Amino acid sequence: MKKFLDENFLLRTKTAQKLYHDYAKEMPIIDYHCHLPPEQIADDVQFENLTQPWLYGDHYKWRAMRTNGVNEDYCTGKKSDWEKFQKWAETVPYTLRNPLYHWTHLELQRYFDVHDILNPDTAKKIYDECGAKLKTPAYSVRNLLRKMNVRLVCTTDDPTDSLQHHIKVKEDGFEIPILPAFRPDNAMDTSDPQKILKYIKKLEEVTNIAISSFDDFLFALQNRHDFFASVGCSVSDHGLEEICADDFTGSESDAIFSKIHSGKTLNQDEQRKFKSAMLIHFAEWDWEKGWVQQFHLGALRNNSSRMLQTLGKDTGWDSVGDFAQAKPLAKFLDKLDRNNRLAKTILYNLNPANNELMATMIGNFNDGSVAGKIQWGSAWWFLDQKDGMIKQVDALSNMSLLSRFIGMLTDSRSFLSYPRHEYFRRILCDLFGDEIENGELPNDLNWVGKIIRDICYTNAQNYFNWQLQQQPATVKIATA
Ligand SMILES: [Zn+2]
Repeated sequence: MKKFLDENFLLRTKTAQKLYHDYAKEMPIIDYHCHLPPEQIADDVQFENLTQPWLYGDHYKWRAMRTNGVNEDYCTGKKSDWEKFQKWAETVPYTLRNPLYHWTHLELQRYFDVHDILNPDTAKKIYDECGAKLKTPAYSVRNLLRKMNVRLVCTTDDPTDSLQHHIKVKEDGFEIPILPAFRPDNAMDTSDPQKILKYIKKLEEVTNIAISSFDDFLFALQNRHDFFASVGCSVSDHGLEEICADDFTGSESDAIFSKIHSGKTLNQDEQRKFKSAMLIHFAEWDWEKGWVQQFHLGALRNNSSRMLQTLGKDTGWDSVGDFAQAKPLAKFLDKLDRNNRLAKTILYNLNPANNELMATMIGNFNDGSVAGKIQWGSAWWFLDQKDGMIKQVDALSNMSLLSRFIGMLTDSRSFLSYPRHEYFRRILCDLFGDEIENGELPNDLNWVGKIIRDICYTNAQNYFNWQLQQQPATVKIATA
């Protein structure tokens, strides 16, 4: 029997072990999409205990606790940090076979060198030991990023954000670029007339541009797009149920905006048309600036209206949706491609039933200008686990070129989530190792090892074209 979570965790064959330890393990991390709070990096925050980075913002853990019968007071409520941690420690033994079980113990090992299993008996010892370490400077958030060999981080930011924290981090000379990503979801969401009006007002304030027409609105947003670029942004992101690709004319957009501006409620058709128009404009700006555009598709959000009212968004009441993705997505990408306005694009799906749809969709719009121009992004959110990652990698292998894949990202709100890259890399090496030992792939570790390193790091570096620091001398990359 193998030891739980030892150095060959998830690596079933000798070749998989060699691929991971000699090629994948030491590769740095490019975290091109996450939700880390930039203010905490600007302030180089230190946490007081493990509850703060683990349980203050992690809806994966809250969902598990709620499922385990834990009262909300211990998830998002007013219980003390220690009481919350105790409830999490009680929950962990019940998360067997959920990725949380692996993530939790990987995080304890990699950040804290704690090799115990978390349960109610070990909770106090682990809480004290990790808490003591977190209070030392080595555990400031910037040092956590350094410790995990992170080379670059892209956060997720609204166009009206001042980006003051990104600017401060840069001014401080922090060697890991913390770049914003332009995510204009709020600028397209017209479902609540008051909310969008408030948003327009905020946009006026930050741009000093009076907005009374659709052109003004676009001008102000483009102003923010330019500003984001000036702070180093080169990626956009959209969180949508589905792509909207309805036909629209300029006069229709003007008329819909007038309705928005006068506080009227839009019908479903108008909402879709407005979103369709905005998506095309955003995509064209991305193309003009050579940015990469990302689309996170398929989440059915805020399903508990009761909890939305109490806790707000992103608190763990979302699930996999079943939207019809293929036709509007193809139409949208085709419109941009036909007009030579299609930027590099990454598509992420939340419904695993769309895996093959995505794997084949990307092939429709690769134009040979750059390897892997249209990417199907890494298994996302509920699919960000062993089974989900294997299925994504398998479908991508079968229907596209896995070798050109830009690989893993954390998509996390926690500074302790970086072992998810290790998790992905182990799974990747295991798949290749297995097929080499089976005689399905040649035993050419130089070549396969290169492909592994590409997927872990080099493809992303080339794709985004970021000028990153050379690897430190301590990082050894095996060549045989
Ligand atoms: Zn995200």
